[in-house]
Amino acid sequence: METVKHCGSCGRRIEWRRRWAAVWDEVRYCSDACRRNKPRGKDHELEQRILGLLDALARDATICPSEAARALFPETWRDHMEDARRAARRLAAAGRIVITQQGAVVDSSTAKGPIRLRKTHPRGTP
Ligand SMILES: [Zn+2]
Repeated sequence: METVKHCGSCGRRIEWRRRWAAVWDEVRYCSDACRRNKPRGKDHELEQRILGLLDALARDATICPSEAARALFPETWRDHMEDARRAARRLAAAGRIVITQQGAVVDSSTAKGPIRLRKTHPRGTP
């Protein structure tokens, strides 16, 4: 049994709980709020933009999630910062990117404060 999964909305880790034992396979979201706030078109666009921005850079380069928000929503990007962070956490949960702070990879579920995003390095490379 898979004991760790990630919320399909906010991308944070969902820890197994005894009360979910019977329905664990069906648990997709960490909370009712996340279930109501499922990723929509703009959220998938943010994911794609993050990957696109990183693809254009050197392998160790990082971006701020705001860069994806600014690229998609030039006027209202501040309103989409949390959406961009959620998109980043979903990508990190999927192993597509890593989230860093001060140059070190951090736990995307618990990192507080400003984060940066970097491409995942292929297995076996530093
Ligand atoms: Zn969630």
